[in-house]
Amino acid sequence: MKRRDFVKKVGLTAAAAVAVPYILPSGRLFAATGSRRANHVVFVLFAGGVRNLESVHKNDGNLMPNLLNGNEAISSDIVNSMSPLPASPLTQPLQNFGTLYKNFRFSDGPTGHFNGHTTAITGQHTNNTLSLREHPTSPTVFELYRKHTNPKGSALNTWWVSHTNNLYPILNYSQYPGYGPDYGANQISPASFFSSRTKDVLDDELNLGSDEKAAVEEMRAFLNYNFTGSTNGLSNIKNTPEEAEQVQAWIKKMITDYKAGLHSNPWNIPGFMNGDMRNVFYAEEIIKEFKPELLVVNMFGVDAAHTDFSTYCDNLRKADWAAAKLWSTIQSTAGMADDTVMIVAPEIGRNSTPNSIVDANGRGALDHTSDDPMSRELFCLVTGPQGVVNQGKTIGAVEGESIDIVPTIGDILDFKHATGGILPGKVLNGAFV
Ligand SMILES: [Zn+2]
Repeated sequence: MKRRDFVKKVGLTAAAAVAVPYILPSGRLFAATGSRRANHVVFVLFAGGVRNLESVHKNDGNLMPNLLNGNEAISSDIVNSMSPLPASPLTQPLQNFGTLYKNFRFSDGPTGHFNGHTTAITGQHTNNTLSLREHPTSPTVFELYRKHTNPKGSALNTWWVSHTNNLYPILNYSQYPGYGPDYGANQISPASFFSSRTKDVLDDELNLGSDEKAAVEEMRAFLNYNFTGSTNGLSNIKNTPEEAEQVQAWIKKMITDYKAGLHSNPWNIPGFMNGDMRNVFYAEEIIKEFKPELLVVNMFGVDAAHTDFSTYCDNLRKADWAAAKLWSTIQSTAGMADDTVMIVAPEIGRNSTPNSIVDANGRGALDHTSDDPMSRELFCLVTGPQGVVNQGKTIGAVEGESIDIVPTIGDILDFKHATGGILPGKVLNGAFV
């Protein structure tokens, strides 16, 4: 269903039923109130373990020319392993549109990917007792946003786009009393969801015959409860029937386009789009359709570093290009442009010394262990509208840490004051005018 038709249909339904919500053209339920810095936040977990040495310190040249200023040449011994990429999607590197923290920290907790993701999404430190199979014990940013945004934030406004179905989808809501699935994010793992294997399964769910009402109710149940096993996603999240209908229409369009080959390489990347690029591509599709107030998307390709340093560097370049593309899309999407703060940060770093695996260029591979301080050194880039976010500012001192991102999002979207001291971190005030 086209968006215009959807809005029209909701309008007609509203005439007959009092309780149906009205969806604004921006995609928001009702109008936002209070003192927000911006009405949208996109948090890019530039994840998989990135050392500051290869990112902001440019030890092997500028591997992130779409985010960072500078023309430092890539080291000659690895440059031939780098993939060709298109010109930057941006007129200038992203750091010029915001504030770069060059000495950000993952200050506490094991330097594992899941610990890093959990800290980034809950704003809480974790320890060795973190379960990989249970929802977090503290509220996620999605729940804090939805529970404490008045009027209550719609599920359509809250998306968690993870690169894989393995573990990460359960970060969409917590088991903390008073929160939980009623306040969670719509979650999707595009690489698993939009694949040749699952589309056949979904076809059966999407084409339920001519009885549209039954189809919608079926899809609502599907979205709310029925994603299980290897295609787990969107589970337990309470979309209203109208919201579920819009999600259904979007998923159907995505699958139709996928089957038509429109998603094979929509960015015209020489060679192919890697998994990170595909994940960001679907995040962009969500942005275009739903204009969410809070979207978190992760990338993970740099974790190739465990066995191949040069591929790690190449995937860092691809993640850099994808993050720039995402900002370009935000800024060309009406309703999001100049009203969005985008935060880019890795979840963890990597070790200072290589392991024993040497790649084709003679470079040592890199793990991440908790006793190596370099595994805790990150960067954080906060971009946003002029007059809201400090433009072209660099903070070189050790300042800011992972647990500060959630309260910062709460400050931007004006719900932090209602979270009652649950968040230990502080707002990254240095980024804001
Ligand atoms: Zn790893």
